[in-house]
Amino acid sequence: MLRPPKDTIGNLRNSCICSKCPSFLECARHTKETFYCFEGKSNCLHDRYGCICMQCPVPKAKSFSGGYFCLSGKAKTK
Ligand code: SF4
Ligand code: SF4
Repeated sequence: MLRPPKDTIGNLRNSCICSKCPSFLECARHTKETFYCFEGKSNCLHDRYGCICMQCPVPKAKSFSGGYFCLSGKAKTK
């Protein structure tokens, strides 16, 4: 029987959709930043142009609430 993909950090990281977000700028692309809900605040993003975290599978998998993790830091569980 096929099993669903494991909830590993690597799989979760690959699910991150920050690179498609309007708040995600070139500076973050250059430094390969992503996965802010686990890794904490961005070193170069500072402005809110929208957040698409709630369209990402990670908050659902990990019961995270909120968004803008790039600005506010690591996610807290509900
Ligand atoms: S919740 Fe946001 S920061 Fe976390 S993996 Fe998804 S898109 Fe990236
Ligand atoms: S954490 Fe949210 S606002 Fe920040 S880049 Fe990712 S999707 Fe966009």
